[in-house]
Amino acid sequence: MTRPVSRRMLGAWLKEVGVDYVMLPARASTSAPAAIMPLSPGDPAAVALPSGAGLETLDDIREELTDCRRCPLCAGRATVVFGVGNPRARLMFVGEGPGSEEDRLGEPFVGAAGKRLDRWIARIGLRREDVYIANIVKCRPPGNRAPLPDEAKACLPYLLRQIRAVRPEIVCTLGATALNFLLGVEAKITRERGKWRERDGVPVLPTYHPAFILRDAARETEVFEDFDALASRLRLPPAK
Ligand code: URA
Repeated sequence: MTRPVSRRMLGAWLKEVGVDYVMLPARASTSAPAAIMPLSPGDPAAVALPSGAGLETLDDIREELTDCRRCPLCAGRATVVFGVGNPRARLMFVGEGPGSEEDRLGEPFVGAAGKRLDRWIARIGLRREDVYIANIVKCRPPGNRAPLPDEAKACLPYLLRQIRAVRPEIVCTLGATALNFLLGVEAKITRERGKWRERDGVPVLPTYHPAFILRDAARETEVFEDFDALASRLRLPPAK
């Protein structure tokens, strides 16, 4: 008699029998080669991963975060703002951290900045439901300040696991905080936006944070250029 085996159990078993990585099939919609998901202990993102993390789902990761107490931000949160969108999205956005509306509703980018982000997404012919949106930290920093390095460091493994689970073709970082913590650099967003980077084999395009554009509308044309670059790399029809 055969019994169904969960992805988590299969992953744990693979690790136990000495399999260090798995070949994931390429998406039907792209000609990309199969992705290799290393599970080696030397990978900083893998350090905190449970066995078989290369096969885990967003739900597995979300479950682990429900009662997270890994940094002091847990003290002030109403909800853990995990992430939202298509679990198989081709395009993933990474912001800084939840604001008050996001903390209240449990969803990233639902306030004024989120409305602006939705407009940019619509401009390249996609809807919020087509992409995946997450943040560097999952709990609201007090007074909407930027996350501190220790807070970002505590939360980053979860974001990296989300990226592995979704397997987007592109990650677009929003603002300097997302760029610097995701890539481990100290770069100026005004200098680095629009320049392709890479994290764990995934192309990363930094652009401005929508909240910054709400304060300095003249810079929005640069965001439009960046979104055109995203659309072109994803081979989406040009923006109208
Ligand atoms: N700003 C962010 O960076 N993330 C959110 O979720 C909301 C506002």
